[in-house]
Order: sequence, then C-alpha cells, then structure tokens
Amino acid sequence: MAGREIRTVGVVGGGQLGRMLALAGLPLGFHFIFLDPAADACARHLGRHLCAPFDDAEALAELGARSDVITFEFENAPARAVAEAVGNTPTWPPAEALNTARDRLFEKTLFQQQGIATARFANVESQAELEQAVAAIGLPAILKTRRLGYDGKGQLRLHDPEQVAGAFAALGEVPCLLEGFVEFASEVSLIAVRGLNGEFRAWPLVANQHDNGILVQSTPVPDHPLQARAEEHGRRILEQLNYVGVLALEFFVVDGELVANEMAPRVHNSGHWTIEGARCSQFENHLRAIAGLPLGDPSLREPTALLNLIGQLPPRAELLALPGAHLHDYDKAPAPGRKLGHLTLCQPDQQALAASLAQARRLLAAAPPA
Ligand code: AMP
Repeated sequence: MAGREIRTVGVVGGGQLGRMLALAGLPLGFHFIFLDPAADACARHLGRHLCAPFDDAEALAELGARSDVITFEFENAPARAVAEAVGNTPTWPPAEALNTARDRLFEKTLFQQQGIATARFANVESQAELEQAVAAIGLPAILKTRRLGYDGKGQLRLHDPEQVAGAFAALGEVPCLLEGFVEFASEVSLIAVRGLNGEFRAWPLVANQHDNGILVQSTPVPDHPLQARAEEHGRRILEQLNYVGVLALEFFVVDGELVANEMAPRVHNSGHWTIEGARCSQFENHLRAIAGLPLGDPSLREPTALLNLIGQLPPRAELLALPGAHLHDYDKAPAPGRKLGHLTLCQPDQQALAASLAQARRLLAAAPPA
C-alpha cells in the first residue's frame, strides 16, 4: 500500500463514533462511507451510507471498492470476514485485535500473557462449571457473558450462594466468565494510539465513573501517578497485536496498582473529551494512524471533564448556558439508558471546572427521567 493516498475511509458501523470520526476527518480532506444496517444510523449525514448487514458480501465488496482504508467503530462486526470480503483494501485495526477484544476470555488471557494483572477469572460454559468457578474464586463475584456485553448488559452480580443456582440460565446459557469482585478505589482508562510505523502516543489517564455499568463521567488526570505504568501496558498490548489506530484499556485502581478490566479496539467514550480538551483528539489521531500520517499531540489543553447525556437530552439552551460547555448531540432517538450525546466542560482552572461540573450535574438531575 506504499504510496497510496488515503482519501476515502470506510467505516464498519455508523453510530456516534463513526459520526465523530467523520467530524474530525472532514477538515483533513477525508471522505467517509459507512456500513450500518440501521436506516437511521446517526453518521449517515456525514458520508455515504451503505444500509446493509455487517456480513452482506455485496455491501462489503462495495465498501472495499470505494474505500482506500477501512476501520471499525463497532467491535462486534465479524472482523475476519470483513477483512476477507473487502478485498485488498487495508483494514485497521487487525482482525485479530477485534477477535481478541470481543471475547472476555481472550482479552483477559492476553492481559495475563503480557504480565498485566486482572481480577481472578474462570471460563464458564455450564451451571456445573459455574459452581466449580464459584468454589475456586469465592463470592462476591460477577458473571459476564464472554461476548456482546456492553454498558453493564450481560452481567450478573453474585453476592449469595442462592443467587448462583439460576445464574447460568439467567444469562442465556452462553459462554461466560466468572470474575472475582474487585474492591477498587477508582476506575481509569488509557486511550492510546499506534501509527503504521509503530509510533506510540497516549492521552492523560482518564478517571471514570459508572452508574449501573454505564459510563456517566470521565475526567482526564494530568500527571496521574500510574500514567507511566499504564502506558507500558498499553504499548505492550498494541505491539503484541500489531495494532494500528486508537485502543482503550480500562483498569481498576487497587492499592495504587492497575488491574486490567477490558479493552476496546476503537475510539472510546472515555476519550470523547479529547475533541475540545486535547491538542489532538482520539478521532483525528485514529484517522492519522490508519492513513499513515504523522500522529498529533495528545496533551491536555486545560482542565476538562465529560458528562454523558443518557436517556433524554435536557434543553439545548440550558446545556449551552453552562460555563465552558461544548454540546455533542448524536441525533439519536431517545430511549432509556441510551447514550444520546455528551457534554464536554473546559475551564481555565480546576475551581472553575468544579463549579461548572456541579451546575451541569444539577441540570442533568433535574431533567425528567427517560
Ligand atoms: P465491564 O462491562 O466489564 O466494563 O463492567 C462494567 C462496570 O462494572 C465496570 O466499569 C465496573 O464499574 C464494574 N465491574 C466490572 N467488573 C468488575 C469486577 N470484577 N469487580 C468489580 N466491579 C466490576
């Protein structure tokens, strides 16, 4: 592919991540084409939309023919089949990385092989195996489906032995992982990017807060004491996977050490603040990476925080009246628990940021429940 100028980016998936990739890429002169089975995919206004299933051979061939490079915004697409169906068009990240990240057993095994601490875990493919796993790991524990879990879905918290009885059936009798419950002090994520030439960059570690398994707030922490350690882990994983593009690694912080939870082989919700808060955003750097262009500076511009807008959007005028607010409305139909947009707050100092965050949280709390 040496010498091939990358102009058209094919994106598997046309949700808000695809939309924000296009919003970052259009000023750089990229064009976009999205493959997404949803007629109302929210990236559709920003490029050509192939409205077809992810395994539609004809649509994949068209995506390959029209694109100079292909990437994924949806990690549950059948990556290997996509890479084969699109012909000679380069596809990043590699299918192997997506296959590892979409299965909790494979990703935790990779962490272990790379010497990165995880919660204790066991593969569970029957009720009998669940009982053996509970005997080995103990309670409390979390049973998670190995695949297709997101935003806290496909998970059961097990506190008492009585809850174990129907648990495998309750998750649909699909392959699962039992994880020991981690008493963490905080949760952080590392967003990192690797270029085609192996160049590595990472944004400041992000402190994350979840509510019922859904990310509600992310705050970049400059000079976090675990930054260097997290970057060591990130670099090792990216190199091991021969990765090109942005990857997110989610960690628990326990006794001042990092315990890896999971990874996402794509731009990540906890990195949306980088659009306004960093010198180069995760979206722009993902595109730069897959196009073989020099990577941009991931450093923080000023104190920044991100709040997700979930279920229902408060009135736009009220959100935009918040000091230092940048609104991202994904143009999606409201539904309970659905991420409809986010708000990034940027302020010249920590005190002003805290005040504006408090005001924003009051506004979100006052929004009528979805
Ligand atoms: P996950 O889908 O694995 O990202 O889990 C969603 C959220 O559930 C995490 O961000 C944590 O807040 C919590 N969680 C997941 N796994 C564990 C665990 N082993 N111990 C304690 N909390 C967990």
